[in-house]
Amino acid sequence: MTIQWFPGHMHATRKAMAERVRDVDAVVELLDARLPGSSENPLLAELTRGKPALKLLNKQDLADPALTRVWLDHLQARPATRALAMDASERAPARRLEAACRALLPNRGGLVKPLRVLICGIPNVGKSTLINSMLGQRAARTGDEPGITKTEQRIMLAEDFALIDTPGLLWPRIEVDESGLLLAASGAVGRNAYDEEEVARALLGRVRPRYADRLATRYRFAPAPAAPDDEVLTEIGRRRGALGPGGRISLQKAAEVVLNDFRSGAWGPLTLETPEEFAAWCAAAAAR
Ligand code: GDP
Repeated sequence: MTIQWFPGHMHATRKAMAERVRDVDAVVELLDARLPGSSENPLLAELTRGKPALKLLNKQDLADPALTRVWLDHLQARPATRALAMDASERAPARRLEAACRALLPNRGGLVKPLRVLICGIPNVGKSTLINSMLGQRAARTGDEPGITKTEQRIMLAEDFALIDTPGLLWPRIEVDESGLLLAASGAVGRNAYDEEEVARALLGRVRPRYADRLATRYRFAPAPAAPDDEVLTEIGRRRGALGPGGRISLQKAAEVVLNDFRSGAWGPLTLETPEEFAAWCAAAAAR
């Protein structure tokens, strides 16, 4: 299954983003720390043409700390790139974000050469939470300015530091099927673009090999490693009273239980992909 999701406003956003990129010094991209590869916008590198980048692995409280470390090292090995893990609701995200951007752009700063940084990320990655938490501290959000589209806002983090906000953006074609499923599981994809049962099965398939104990604790049963994901989903439905007409187990409702539990972090901190796994999916998709 390929998940495609690109409503009209995203075309406009992409165009606006391409235009704004010309005027910025660096790009901050929020990634979901549980799926850092899949949640990274493949168009961004093309749109930003090698501008310095800060990758923020958000929702680190929901991710596996050991794998977050692996991803941070992996991302920071790229040229002109810094990576930070954070929890968007933490008390002082603005300070860490600002320090990382200033380190990335040592030759900018001061009122003569203020820093202009674009912030972007897929829907549901936590961008509004981060921005609200920064606004709550000390930043001031200015209204629409002439020449700036309504879809963007400028946040002054310091006198010489403007953060330019863009709406959540997914890319036109998610070439990697595994990524499409994980993005849907994370809540980044519009509800109409995927089948919840399929996404829940795929999610269980990713989680079971590495974190079987978490599922066993949450649902109080330990399926055989070889048991099909369908069977595990049915058993979760039975245990959670996910019933449909006639008292039969509803796989749809069981899928909703699984997706809600994953999104809310009820399984404990976990990460769905390693850099190697993600690279292998990309290579396989490119070879198709
Ligand atoms: P946006 O679409 O990128 O603006 O995402 P939101 O800021 O609306 O966040 C989407 C959901 O993720 C909300 O339920 C937030 O409360 C939650 N969220 C955002 N950041 C974090 C985080 O760092 N940790 C956790 N646990 N939840 C977060």
